[in-house]
Amino acid sequence: MTSETDVQKSADGSTPGTPTTPPPARPAFGRVTGPAGPGDTALATALQKVLDGHWADTRRTTREAMTPEVLSPIGLSMEEHREHVLGQLSRLAETGIPKLGFRKEDGGAGDAGGVLTAFEMLGHGDLSLMVKAGVQWGLFGGAISNLGNEEVRRKYLPDAISLDLLGCFAMTELGQGSDVQNLETTATFDRETGEFVVDTPTPSAEKAYIGNAARDGRLAAVFAQLITPDKDGEPDNHGVHCLLVPIRDSDGNDLPGVTTTDHGHKGGLLGVDNGRIRFDKVRVPREALLDRFGAVDADGLYSSSIESDGARFFTMLGTLIRGRVSVGAASGAAARTALALAVRYGLVRRQFDHPETGKGIPLLEYREHQRRLMPRVARAYAYACAQNAIIAELDEFEKFPDYFDDRRRREMEAHAAGIKAAVTGWANETISEARLACGGAGYMAENRLTTMRADADVFSTFEGDNVVLMQLVGKELLTAYASEFGDMDQVETVTFALNMVADVVQEKTRASTLWQKLVDSVTDREHTDLLDRGNQLELLVDRSEHLVETVARRLRKAQGEDGSEAFKVFNSAQDHILAAGRAHMDSWVFEQFVEAIEACEDEDAREMLGMLADVFVLDVVDRDKGWFLEHNRLTTERTKAATAALNRLCTKLAGKARTLVDAFAIPEFVFDVPMLNDGGVDAPVEAAAGAEGLG
Ligand SMILES: Cc1cc2nc3c(=O)[nH]c(=O)nc-3n(C[C@H](O)[C@H](O)[C@H](O)COP(=O)(O)OP(=O)(O)OC[C@H]3O[C@@H](n4cnc5c(N)ncnc54)[C@H](O)[C@@H]3O)c2cc1C
Repeated sequence: MTSETDVQKSADGSTPGTPTTPPPARPAFGRVTGPAGPGDTALATALQKVLDGHWADTRRTTREAMTPEVLSPIGLSMEEHREHVLGQLSRLAETGIPKLGFRKEDGGAGDAGGVLTAFEMLGHGDLSLMVKAGVQWGLFGGAISNLGNEEVRRKYLPDAISLDLLGCFAMTELGQGSDVQNLETTATFDRETGEFVVDTPTPSAEKAYIGNAARDGRLAAVFAQLITPDKDGEPDNHGVHCLLVPIRDSDGNDLPGVTTTDHGHKGGLLGVDNGRIRFDKVRVPREALLDRFGAVDADGLYSSSIESDGARFFTMLGTLIRGRVSVGAASGAAARTALALAVRYGLVRRQFDHPETGKGIPLLEYREHQRRLMPRVARAYAYACAQNAIIAELDEFEKFPDYFDDRRRREMEAHAAGIKAAVTGWANETISEARLACGGAGYMAENRLTTMRADADVFSTFEGDNVVLMQLVGKELLTAYASEFGDMDQVETVTFALNMVADVVQEKTRASTLWQKLVDSVTDREHTDLLDRGNQLELLVDRSEHLVETVARRLRKAQGEDGSEAFKVFNSAQDHILAAGRAHMDSWVFEQFVEAIEACEDEDAREMLGMLADVFVLDVVDRDKGWFLEHNRLTTERTKAATAALNRLCTKLAGKARTLVDAFAIPEFVFDVPMLNDGGVDAPVEAAAGAEGLG
C-alpha cells in the first residue's frame, strides 16, 4: 500500500478534515499540464492493460478489424442506414467473431467472455450495428442456444451464426414490457394435429419494438403463455415459454397469419428495423417449442424439471442475461468514446485569455470543466473493470455451471442487472455532459456526440428498464441468502426481511479477502482518512448495508398482512429499495475496481489508478453528502474537505487527461472529426511539466 499512501500525500497533503499546513500556492487558474497531442504512451499502455482485462487478445483483434465503416454514417435515409448496417453485420459475420459466443458442439467457439468483449468494442462505433448484432446473435441466437434442444440447435444455429437466417427476439408486447411474466400471446397445443397455435388474442398482446421485425427477420423466437389440454380437455397454462415461429418468406413477405408493421423513425438507432408482430392463429409444429425447461409430448402432456411456473420462467430468463451484460458493456464503451472526444476537445479549445499570460485558456484548465469530466473519467475506469468482472463471472458460469450454487448464480444475475442499470444510466448522462462540454461543436452531427446520445438513450430501457432492474438488485439484497431458493413475492420478501437480512449482508461483504486485507491495512484507527482505501470501502459498504437494514425495518410493518397490504408497504419503501440497490452497485463496482488496481503491476499505473479510485469515492461523497451528513457518517468539516480534495485531484488528473483517455484504446479513426481538426480550435496546449505535473 506504499503507493496509495504516497497518493494521499501528493493528492491532498493532509488527512481530510484535519487542519494542517495549507497547500502550496497555486496559479490563479489550475494549469493543465498535459500535452494535447498523444499522452504518455508508456503509462497509457500500462493503464490499457488493466482496462483490457482478461480478454485483451479479443479486444486487440476486434480493434484491428474495426474500420471507419463501423461508425454511424451521417445523412443517410432510414432505409439506406438499415442497408448499411446489414452490410456491416455481414462483414462482422465473416470475421468469425459472432461464432465465439456459441458452444463448440453448436458450431461456435465456446468463448462467452470473448464475444461479450468483442461486442463491447462495437460500442465505439455505430450503436445500430451493435444493437442489430445483439438482436441477431445475442437474443435470437441466444434463445435458441440456451432454450433449445440439440436437434433445434443443429437445425437453426449454423444459419443464424452465418447470417443466412435473420431472426427476432419477440418478448415485449404493447401491454406488457417490464412485466413479461404476464404476456398475453398464447401458444395452445392442438392434440389433433400435434401443433401449437400461436395467437395474439388482444390488441395489447401485439409484439412491439422488436428488432429485425420490420424488415430483415425471417424467424422469430416468440414468448407466449404455453397452454396444453389437461386430462379433462380444459386449458392448462404453464406460463411463458419460447417458440420459433417463421414470420416471412425468403422474399420478405409476411407469412399467412402473420402481420408485421414498421415502427419507422425512432429517437435513435436509425439503422435497426424495429417493428410489431401480430399472430392470427399461426400453426407451428410441436418441435417449434424451445423445450429445455418445459416440454410437451405428442399427447400434449407437459413436463418440466422445475415445478413452479414463476421459478421456471425466471430460470429461463436467467440463461438470457448475456444481452443485458452486452448492453451495459457497449454503453460503457460509448461513454468512454464521448469522454475521450470531450477531453481531446477540452485540451485544444481555448476560451477567454489568461490575465497573466494573455494566452487563451484551454477549456480543461477551468475547474468546472475538470469537475464535469474527470469524475466521469474515474467512473469510466471503475465501470470498465466491473464490466470485465461480470463478463468473467458469466464466462465461468457458462463453462462450469456446476461451480455455481443458487446463491452464486442469483448474485451474478443481480450484478448483471445492476451493472446494466448503473452503466447505461451513467452513459446517458455522460454522453450528454460530453456533448455540452464541446459547446456548439458538440451539437454538430459530424462530431458524433449527438448521434451517440440519441442512440444510447434507449439502452436505459431495453434489456430491462433501469428502474425495474435496480429494484431487482434491491430485492435481491433483501432475499439473497434466504435458505430456500424461491422466487419470492412481495409478502415473502417482506417476511424474510424481518429475520435475517442485516446479519447476512454484513457477513457476506466482510467475508471477502480483499475487504479483510484493506481493512487490516488501515492505519488510521479513527477512520477519518477518506483517501485510505480500506476506509473508502468501509464507507461505501456501510452506506449500502445501512440502506438495506433500514428497508428491512420498514418492511417489518407488513408482517402478517395480506398481499394488498404487503404491496402498500413495499411500494411505500420503493425509493428506499432503489437507493439500496444503487448504493450496493457503487460499493460492488468500487470493489471490482480496487481488485483490478491491486492486480496491476506497473507502479505508475497503480498510482494513477489509485487517484482515480480516490476521485470515484470523493465524488460519491460529494454527490451524496446529504446522506452521509444526515446519517452522521461524516461531519460537515469532512464533507467540505472531501470536496476540496476532489477539486484538487480533478485538477491533477486533468494534467494527465489525454493519457487517461488514450488508455481507453479507442480506434484512432473515431477521433477524425472536424471539431478536433479544423480551424475552430487553437494550437495545442503546451506541456508545462512541473507546475502540477505528475512526474
Ligand atoms: C428501440 C427498442 C428496441 C427494442 N427491442 C426489443 C426486442 O428486440 N425484443 C423485445 O422483446 N423487446 C424489445 N424492446 C422492448 C423493451 O425491452 C421494453 O421497452 C422494456 O422492457 C420496457 O418495457 P415498456 O416499454 O413496456 O415500459 P414499461 O414497463 O411500461 O415502463 C414504463 C416506465 O414505467 C416504469 N416502471 C415500470 N414498472 C415499474 C415498477 N414496477 N416500479 C416503478 N416504475 C416502473 C419504468 O421505469 C419506465 O420508466 C425494445 C424497445 C425499444 C425502445
